[in-house]
Amino acid sequence: MPSSISPAALEAAVSDHLPWLRNLYRHFHRHPELSMAEHATADRIEQELTAMGLEPQRIGGTGVVAVIGNGEGPTVLARADIDALPLQEDTGLEYASETRGVMHACGHDAHATALLGATRVLAENRDAWSGTYIAVFQPGEETADGARAMIDGGLLERVPRPDVALSQHVMPAAAGTIGTVTGPVLSAGDSLKITIHGRGAHGSMPHTAVDPVVLASSIVLRLQTVVSREVEPGTFAVLTVGSLMAGAKANIISASAELLLNIRTYDLTVREQVIAAIERIVRAECAGAGAPADPEFHYYDQYPLTSNDSAVTDTVTEAFVDHFGPQAVYEASRVTASEDFSLIPDAFGVPYTYWTVGSVDPARYRDAVSRGAVSQEIPANHSPHFAPLEEPTLLTATRAQVVAALAYLGAEGRVD
Ligand code: ZN
Ligand code: ZN
Repeated sequence: MPSSISPAALEAAVSDHLPWLRNLYRHFHRHPELSMAEHATADRIEQELTAMGLEPQRIGGTGVVAVIGNGEGPTVLARADIDALPLQEDTGLEYASETRGVMHACGHDAHATALLGATRVLAENRDAWSGTYIAVFQPGEETADGARAMIDGGLLERVPRPDVALSQHVMPAAAGTIGTVTGPVLSAGDSLKITIHGRGAHGSMPHTAVDPVVLASSIVLRLQTVVSREVEPGTFAVLTVGSLMAGAKANIISASAELLLNIRTYDLTVREQVIAAIERIVRAECAGAGAPADPEFHYYDQYPLTSNDSAVTDTVTEAFVDHFGPQAVYEASRVTASEDFSLIPDAFGVPYTYWTVGSVDPARYRDAVSRGAVSQEIPANHSPHFAPLEEPTLLTATRAQVVAALAYLGAEGRVD
């Protein structure tokens, strides 16, 4: 059995690396790269892992994986996403993005830093645990391409099968706190392009046309009834028509129209219900208008449901409470955003949990909460003003990855 590492020793092991963590974080923040083009980021991650004495592998283009084999015991997979967003940073930070129009506005720079930190602490403290640790640095989360690319690139064949998978995300909550929740934590997300076909004509001769603008307008209104009239009240579903495009000139009736829809659900049965309703309504409206061709449906940017396993979440939450104290751990609320992380544990067929890490100055956050002004005053993920507080966020996120891993790999590992 491994000797356990005391909370104080663990805290010191992470804190000792603070200058390195801060330097890494600022490097990633200054040099953001878009989804599936994280070449320099992946190079830097590989260099850091190599410096730890590990043998990183590239999987799925810009994905990086390192495995620490450390004797008998369970296998834990921890994953961080590494990509940035097409956004012009407006934070005023001294380490702001140096790449115009690209920004780490979702905190994936903090995730990559924390996972490198946890990997280093585990690599340097092998007597404190036993088993196998797999660090997965995943590209392309923001486009839902990266987890799939790593799986298609051979992830399942190139690393041992884990017993459990872990991931985390920085959020606008008090820095130093961690949110965990059992069951759905992030929604399934689907984007859908619908092309409807009418018949073009001169704008002065509508009787010779099948007007796709009128047809599309009718579809948009009718789609509003899917959530309000078909999904059971109290059941979560979002259906947004984010784009409607048709025509280019006032006196031309165009031949077709294109609608872009976004769908969010917490339940795969509801997801199927919503998708079936959309297709039914669109087909019926097209038939009603006398459209000369069937509508076309193209699904893209599809994110799986992220639903935390209750046993894994309980184990990790208990370890967080032991290490950080009960005041630092709260029950996270579900977020309507989506993630592709769960594709990885689902591909292995293993349970997982995904927790949130606060990143806002606690006094500022609590003040905003007390005035009900969080969404107005605290820049959230994907805002050009998103700027996690470096400390204690980096330390908390790094410790969280170590503590969660040790819940399985430490002396009191709980996997049977
Ligand atoms: Zn994001
Ligand atoms: Zn993100």
